[in-house]
Amino acid sequence: MIFGNSSVIDLIDRAVNGNKLTHAYLFYGEKGLGKKAIAAHFAKAILCGGEHRPCGVCSSCKKFEANAHPDLTILSGTAEKNELTIANIRKLKADAVVFPNDGVKKVYIISDCQKMQAPAANALLKLLEEPPEHLVLLLTADDRANLLPTIVSRCIPVGIFPVEEADCAKALEALGGVDAEHAALAAKSCGGNIGRGLALLQPENLPVSPDDFCMMLAKRQEYGMLAALSKLSGDKQAYRTFLEALYSRFRDAAVLKSGGKRLLSGSKEAAAALIGSFTTKQLLEKLRVLSHAAKDLDANANIAVLSAWITSSLTGAAEEQVI
Ligand SMILES: [Zn+2]
Repeated sequence: MIFGNSSVIDLIDRAVNGNKLTHAYLFYGEKGLGKKAIAAHFAKAILCGGEHRPCGVCSSCKKFEANAHPDLTILSGTAEKNELTIANIRKLKADAVVFPNDGVKKVYIISDCQKMQAPAANALLKLLEEPPEHLVLLLTADDRANLLPTIVSRCIPVGIFPVEEADCAKALEALGGVDAEHAALAAKSCGGNIGRGLALLQPENLPVSPDDFCMMLAKRQEYGMLAALSKLSGDKQAYRTFLEALYSRFRDAAVLKSGGKRLLSGSKEAAAALIGSFTTKQLLEKLRVLSHAAKDLDANANIAVLSAWITSSLTGAAEEQVI
């Protein structure tokens, strides 16, 4: 299910059901916006043999849902496993000329294309220059500027943008396994980025636990805090989500300390550790520190310098007495 993005869903509908399909599309936008889910929805519609596609009931749709469609190939450039190698792209190129097994089209989804090195990108370019009639390529990337201009110019570019807060809340409720109230609160903090909202609700997906970080902060373990932040330094999006997760814990601590009850983070332990370490005034100061840090991160601040600043600013009031 796709949440929000109605103009993109309309474009896909016109392409598939209005016979306007072309050979290559590029879905671009920041991490967490659902580019892969949208590309998968598109692929399902292209391969569907039903009336209004994707119908969800034909044999093609069933195979698609079981991750067993013979005419769909997915290559991904995610950090854990970069499949976008020149060898794999050449294999695709060799496979591309083979006719589809089931229907009239075959689809390649190639995600995170910004992770492709030049030789693989050049091999992909050759495929884009002379695609067989039955082939549709669906590429995703964080930013068009990170791809070869010659690749971009051969694709229909489709920007994926943050969704409305109400759509985001619905998505977080459906995908995050939380009630409507928690989903609505998380939606307020993630700027319409559903992936970021899910990470806020499920901090176990982050490389560093925000709760552990709060515990270290309560004990003023600056080296541990710096080491934790350095684990995030290679992934700006994860760093951003981590800052938001910290913010929600400080916010909870401030709310609890003022007699409120509604927790955003759902982490009572972290909030309790912060309450024990800081006065209300200090908690509000730390919230400002975290807001400031998020803005600096968005403005491409040097992450090592930023991490040092965050650590010293958060621990800075260590000597002040807690009242
Ligand atoms: Zn179908």
